[in-house]
Amino acid sequence: MLPFARVTVIGLGLIGSSIARAVKAHMPTVRVTGYDADAQVREIATRIQLCDDITDTPGASVIDADLVILCVPVGAMGAAAASFADDLPADAIVSDVGSCKESVVTALTAALPNAIVIPAHPVAGTENSGPEAGFASLFHNRWCIVTPPEGAQPFAVERVLEFWRQLGAQVETMAPDHHDRVLAVTSHLPHLIAYTIVGTASDLEEVTRSEVIKYSAGGFRDFTRIAASDPTMWRDVFLANKDAVLDMLQRFSEDLSALQRAIRWGKGDELFDRFTETRAIRRSVIEEGQDDSRPDFGRSHD
Ligand code: NAP
Repeated sequence: MLPFARVTVIGLGLIGSSIARAVKAHMPTVRVTGYDADAQVREIATRIQLCDDITDTPGASVIDADLVILCVPVGAMGAAAASFADDLPADAIVSDVGSCKESVVTALTAALPNAIVIPAHPVAGTENSGPEAGFASLFHNRWCIVTPPEGAQPFAVERVLEFWRQLGAQVETMAPDHHDRVLAVTSHLPHLIAYTIVGTASDLEEVTRSEVIKYSAGGFRDFTRIAASDPTMWRDVFLANKDAVLDMLQRFSEDLSALQRAIRWGKGDELFDRFTETRAIRRSVIEEGQDDSRPDFGRSHD
């Protein structure tokens, strides 16, 4: 049973274009309409036949939708929602894919006070952006966390959960503030660390930039993938999830200082115990099917 018949995707970048492709692949009878604020993106989306229809205005894209999904940077959610508010059918469900949820719930409910708003976050992505970066299998076996506001209609929540199940995702519901704390440590902090370490390496004076790049296989290159992520998206995530990120950063700094002390005082046992614990976490990630089990992520070493 299909949860929706007419889906509108607002923002046709990596995530929006992946949703459009995944709906076509998994629910071929569902009509997909797309809109993006960028005329060039609309042009590309039309050329690659991403959706059944691409409209020139946000209002026209939602006029007969039963699900509208906002796939724009979290700082643009409120303005994007306001841009179609007057044309939204009363019974349509509005959802989104933003990487933080409390600020998005606030922005969407303020822009659309009478709409049914059920936010969600597919925990899946790559470091690429734009309509040509998306692919239909992006959500396969990845988690999608649905964060209903207090008092949300259970039937509306179930339809959004079913939509993501049909795209191949595993689903979970969570309170928006809890989501933001969990993602602060599993996603936002790792991105901040990657941005820092790649920036530090490129600013070093005694090691040349070409040496950093040449010997990057020592671990650095895995940080460079994360640090290549979209600057607009991540600027917005850190500003929107400020409190949780600063909290996790404080904990991280304390743990880093403890490791620094262990190195300074030659406490090998402390280092060994910590590294043994972290190795077990990597094993659990693989057992859960959340990463490639092959050594070095399956890179060829021929
Ligand atoms: P993206 O590839 O940069 O695409 C976003 C698109 O939205 C761009 O084409 C952008 O146009 C357009 N846009 C911006 N403001 C708009 C507005 N008011 N109305 C209509 N379109 C607008 O970004 P993405 O990676 O797909 O990320 C989209 C959302 O998904 C973000 O909220 C992000 O937090 C979330 N998310 C991302 C990932 C990931 O790994 N990338 C994973 C999970 C969730 P311009 O470029 O002209 O601004």
